[in-house]
Amino acid sequence: MRAAAITTYNSDWELKTLPDPRPAAGQVLIKIHASGMCGTDLHVHHGVFGLPLPIIAGHEPVGEVVELGPGVVDFKVGDRVGVQWNQKGCGRCDTCRAGDQAHCAQAQSWMNIGGGNSELMLAWASGCTLLPEGLDYQLAAPIFCAGYTVMSGLRNADPKPGERVAVLGLGGLGHLALQFSHALGLETWAITGQANKVAELKALGASEVLVVRDDPNKAMTDAGGFDIVLSTTNSAKQVSSAFGGLRRNGRLISMGLTTDGPIAIDSAAALMGQRQLRGSSQDERSDLVEALALVAAGKAKPVLETYPMTKVNEVRERLAQGKIRYRAVLLHTY
Ligand SMILES: [Zn+2]
Ligand SMILES: [Zn+2]
Repeated sequence: MRAAAITTYNSDWELKTLPDPRPAAGQVLIKIHASGMCGTDLHVHHGVFGLPLPIIAGHEPVGEVVELGPGVVDFKVGDRVGVQWNQKGCGRCDTCRAGDQAHCAQAQSWMNIGGGNSELMLAWASGCTLLPEGLDYQLAAPIFCAGYTVMSGLRNADPKPGERVAVLGLGGLGHLALQFSHALGLETWAITGQANKVAELKALGASEVLVVRDDPNKAMTDAGGFDIVLSTTNSAKQVSSAFGGLRRNGRLISMGLTTDGPIAIDSAAALMGQRQLRGSSQDERSDLVEALALVAAGKAKPVLETYPMTKVNEVRERLAQGKIRYRAVLLHTY
């Protein structure tokens, strides 16, 4: 199989031909059709997770099951599946015993058995989810990290009918958060630093677009405030500011790893208005399934750039430069 392997941190990923893997007990082998590239892959590239090398990244993989390991009974050859980040827990800790294997501290992921930037990928069957019939592989891929993350964020915000939502950070995750929130019938505003995105964000379902460079608080407050902020930005400064744009009892859901230090919160605003900052990542499997269903129904559609795997380094550089229009998906065409 061919694969894009990270062999040295901060260097180009290497396209290599590697031995075809065989699934162990409980695993499946997947012929990968599409593999999304996520901002987190830049952290992987820079060695932030300290993984032993070589490693194959790619945590938005979708494809077709081509072989079952011993004991796999829930899937069959030919199934169209995607794989989530955490695939299998230890089965023995309190978290696993409570049925939440994906949040086990020892959970197995692509970091242990390789990711989607390879023609053939191993996955634990417990980490696979069937794709809705007819859903295109390319559209499904970004749902396995970006879409899953923001749907969990939206559900963890406990949205109520009539509430007003702001989406802060309109990239690969945010443009899906915007569409999902709109699809659920919530008044959804976009908050972006890029004035050239206004028309397309409205086309994606934004009721209004606030163009704000650094300090969203004032613009959000002037607009009447928000019950929910879905934040995917990496800027702690922006999150801190947006917290001030919450209405009383508002919830700011932070889904981005901030790169400029901790998030500072105005304690008076939190206390007097009972405003909350909630961290959120991929949570219930039902969030993933709900997100896939919305895309399959045409109620949300990832905006993609697609590339052959041979361009993986170019794609990574475009991502680092902020040039990707929402999400890049790699295809195994050579
Ligand atoms: Zn990701
Ligand atoms: Zn466990």
